[in-house]
Amino acid sequence: MVHRSELSNKLLTGGTGEIASIINYYSGAPLAEREALFSAALEERRKYYGNLVFFRGLIEFSSYCKNDCYYCGIRRSNRNAVRYRLSHEEIMRCCAEGRRLGFRTFVLQSGEDLYYTDERMCAVIADIKEHYPDCAVTLSLGEKAEESYRRYYDAGADRYLLRHETADGQHYARLHPSEMSLENRKKCLYTLKEIGFQVGAGFMVESPYQTFENLASDMIFLRELRPHMIGIGPFIPHRDTIFAGEKTPSVDLTLIMLALIRIMLPEALIPSTTALGTIDSQGREKGLKAGANVVMPNLSPPRHRKDYSLYDNKICTGEEAAECLDCLTRRIRFAGFEPDFSRGDGPVMYAVS
Ligand code: SAH
Repeated sequence: MVHRSELSNKLLTGGTGEIASIINYYSGAPLAEREALFSAALEERRKYYGNLVFFRGLIEFSSYCKNDCYYCGIRRSNRNAVRYRLSHEEIMRCCAEGRRLGFRTFVLQSGEDLYYTDERMCAVIADIKEHYPDCAVTLSLGEKAEESYRRYYDAGADRYLLRHETADGQHYARLHPSEMSLENRKKCLYTLKEIGFQVGAGFMVESPYQTFENLASDMIFLRELRPHMIGIGPFIPHRDTIFAGEKTPSVDLTLIMLALIRIMLPEALIPSTTALGTIDSQGREKGLKAGANVVMPNLSPPRHRKDYSLYDNKICTGEEAAECLDCLTRRIRFAGFEPDFSRGDGPVMYAVS
């Protein structure tokens, strides 16, 4: 049996050592123990979100990137990466299709593409908000100057996703080139929050060199930042990176991290990621059963999808948006949850005593 309040207390007050030993414990625990943890997380999620699973339409609008994150397939030094960029009009067409299918959130994600200046980006944001005022716009464009973030916000963007990737400085330096820093990444997150965005942070699980202490630092950073959204997915090697030879993890540790984070920050919006679905055909369902409550099906034009290749063997790159949506809603219902197409800004239910 998991004593939820005791565990939650330890996660909210413990230091790196104590939290690392909890993660370590569950990673080696018998299945029944892990399942008890997932049920506890599910119960916690039920208090704030019932059975609902929020849908976000993901538009991967550019695979150009000026950064060189060692793990990422679209890093600038990958000569084999196929680069594409959707025009303003093409992005609008994805939104029109998304709105027709019922989405109320559009997530615009890209590499750090210099073509999309603040001016061009703001024009897209304003156009979406003008045509679809009932929809939320989420951005995931990487690290920018405070001024740029302010301009996006003023143009109407509601949310911003920026995973911190790892909250340990030394670990961060082993995954990123020296011109990037954990400090700047964290600073961006605090700035975004201060501006008024709903903010999403997060990290990869089983990235190269990662220790349980690193994962504990991630949890401690999250409890300090208190983001609205938390994106966690397994690291998956990409063939054109220096980590090509790393092993693809199983879903086990990601599920444990999802559950622990749900118990620590029960009101968070937590996606069950495509990466999770990539390493296990039931991965997204398992993520939902471990405490996640958001899915982000792809609205990008099918002809470009395989070129937004962050890691190998990404799923759902062949289907039309409507097919993807149909498949995912059926899977979610079958897993015992209820797809929800509202904006999904936060908790919809409050704890009943
Ligand atoms: N340029 C944006 C979007 C990055 S891509 C930004 O910097 O925020 C979105 C996320 O994909 C990243 O934050 C990273 O956590 C994840 N990702 C990248 N490469 C990956 C890999 N090989 N395996 C799993 N996730 C990966």
